[in-house]
Amino acid sequence: MTSDTIFGKIIRKEIPADIVYEDDLALAFKDITPQAPVHILVIPKKPIPKLADASPEDQALMGHLLLTAKQVAEEAGLSNGYRLVVNTGSDGGQTVYHFHIHILGGRQMKWPPG
Ligand code: AMP
Repeated sequence: MTSDTIFGKIIRKEIPADIVYEDDLALAFKDITPQAPVHILVIPKKPIPKLADASPEDQALMGHLLLTAKQVAEEAGLSNGYRLVVNTGSDGGQTVYHFHIHILGGRQMKWPPG
């Protein structure tokens, strides 16, 4: 399973990342430009570019990623809550085209997001 994005390079261990969780299907690592005291990205090893590219066959994988995000947030100590964000496509503000879930926590989140 490979991807040509920077996240593909992280999956293949071609560039370093601060990895906090890994299994056969998923990887979680600290965001290089944190927007909160805790900012972790959860990604599939399968190179799905964006949510709009996920297909019905990815149903179990997408569920696994959400539950992985929950587990990683718990292990990061975010017992008071946290926010999950999926930026999708240009208008969504996505910059890396390998699907990822942002876990943001450790401060009070605001609404609406920018
Ligand atoms: P998005 O804008 O939703 O596509 O989010 C991409 C995220 O990837 C941003 O928050 C970046 O800071 C983060 N990012 C980019 N390159 C790296 C990297 N090498 N290691 C960790 N996080 C990264």
